[in-house]
Amino acid sequence: MKGKLVVVGFGPGSAEHITERAKEALRESDCIIGYKTYVDLIAEFIEGKEIISTGMSEEVSRAQAAVKLAEEGKTVAVISSGDAGVYGMAGLVYEVLVEQGWKEAEGVGVEIVPGISAINSCASLLGAPVMHDACTISLSDHLTPWELIAKRIDAAGAADFVIALYNPKSGRRTRQIVEAQRILLKHRSPDTPVGLVKSAYREREQVVITDLKNMLDHDIGMLTTVIIGNSTTFLYDNKMITPRGYQRKYTLTSEKQPLRPHERLKPKNEPWALHGGQEEKTDLYKLGMQALRLLDGQEKQEASRPLFKQKIESIFEVAVSPGVANKMFSAEQLLVLSKAAGEKGSIEYTPHHQVILRVPTEDPELITASLQDAGFLLSPIGDVVTVKACDFCDGEKKDAIPYAEQLHEKFDGLDMPKELKIGLNGCGMACYGAVKDDIGIVFRKGKFDLFLGAKTVGRTAHAGQPVAEGVEPEALVPLLEEIIAEYKEKGHPNERFFKYFKRVKKIQNFDYRDMEPKINLEPAPCGD
Ligand code: SAH
Repeated sequence: MKGKLVVVGFGPGSAEHITERAKEALRESDCIIGYKTYVDLIAEFIEGKEIISTGMSEEVSRAQAAVKLAEEGKTVAVISSGDAGVYGMAGLVYEVLVEQGWKEAEGVGVEIVPGISAINSCASLLGAPVMHDACTISLSDHLTPWELIAKRIDAAGAADFVIALYNPKSGRRTRQIVEAQRILLKHRSPDTPVGLVKSAYREREQVVITDLKNMLDHDIGMLTTVIIGNSTTFLYDNKMITPRGYQRKYTLTSEKQPLRPHERLKPKNEPWALHGGQEEKTDLYKLGMQALRLLDGQEKQEASRPLFKQKIESIFEVAVSPGVANKMFSAEQLLVLSKAAGEKGSIEYTPHHQVILRVPTEDPELITASLQDAGFLLSPIGDVVTVKACDFCDGEKKDAIPYAEQLHEKFDGLDMPKELKIGLNGCGMACYGAVKDDIGIVFRKGKFDLFLGAKTVGRTAHAGQPVAEGVEPEALVPLLEEIIAEYKEKGHPNERFFKYFKRVKKIQNFDYRDMEPKINLEPAPCGD
């Protein structure tokens, strides 16, 4: 009968955080081998078992004893706190086996049972400090040269990793954590958040949130894990939080507006990625660019740029137009616009005839001020109301212009469940397509016709349904106010206006009528 070795990581130390398989493996074992403190921690799961507990630095003899017992035909559990494969017993057990020429096919059975490591359990008590690229570094130089440990701290610091320091300090090893702090201060700001977690999920648990400068003023010991934030980690309500990425987008309305899932992965929305915001380039193009960079010596410059200044960069986005009715950009305005975009920004022309400026900046006011000085009208973008008007035949049919301006002032930029386009056209020709907008308004003989619920995209696109004719000018704004307020309140997040109309069947006093073309079309989602 061949025996078996199960190397069990039992998590931070509480019964709730040990896995089912770990408990089961302990039950199946004849014999439990581990460091005394750990044996005590899991006492309730190993009652009645043969127990071999040894001192702290006797890992090798523990592993040897385990292998010997397994060879005698026993099932032996070797226990580690956290995960057995993270500074635990798993590697040592394999090392002893390898020494003996063990092969999986003929030798004793081996199973490594995963557990929650300190980086995870401690992070959970601090908030969400890990989140992004992180590494663990053990400060124990008993078996590893300090020079190598120092090199790793330095490299992790420079590369802006979140760092979990294991074995930070013991009775005899007290200088290592001081050195670690010194090295990290070369790369990170003194106010970088630092979390100290002692005995996570155990009886004497202690959680301290401090910073890189002051971390040594607190108790750090053998049972502490030190988690050091990256350059973007922040504190909120005594929680340590590392954002998921280094970039954010926002528009004129104060709320940060993350992109919709399908927009997020488009190259143009990720100017910071390896592709540089461009669609995939041909190999020839890449080769050419590489050659140019080499000639320029840019390659070298980039490599030596300090990496630790990677603060979260915000991309400000705003729709820019020459006016509600005015469709003409002056040469002067285009110059101002291109200056605002600079080298890092972009200017996009959208299917909705919008010109959108995107620019990385922490100071959008500087940009908005220069654009406004140049006579631009600025509008937020995202799930907001956009008021579009026609050019009123270059001002010849100008009676409705004041109404368009009034609507713009009143409604443009209001937050909505989904983007809501209001189109106002100055005569019955409606050549700027008001009837194809979510809400269409057509000026005719001093009064307004109203169209609701156009389906503006897709193969079953259709115009809005005419719901009212001859609305008096004074009644227009109050009516729109009510329609917009209703949609804002009752529309589901992400529900387009036409879908909302179709679902509720009545907006204000207007009944829904099915405008969809009656043809059978296979569903064809984006990309098909
Ligand atoms: N295998 C373990 C690590 C063993 S090294 C794991 O995966 O978690 C020992 C170090 O782990 C300690 O010095 C401490 O830094 C960390 N550690 C282990 N358990 C911990 C706990 N409950 N709370 C805080 N730190 C812990």
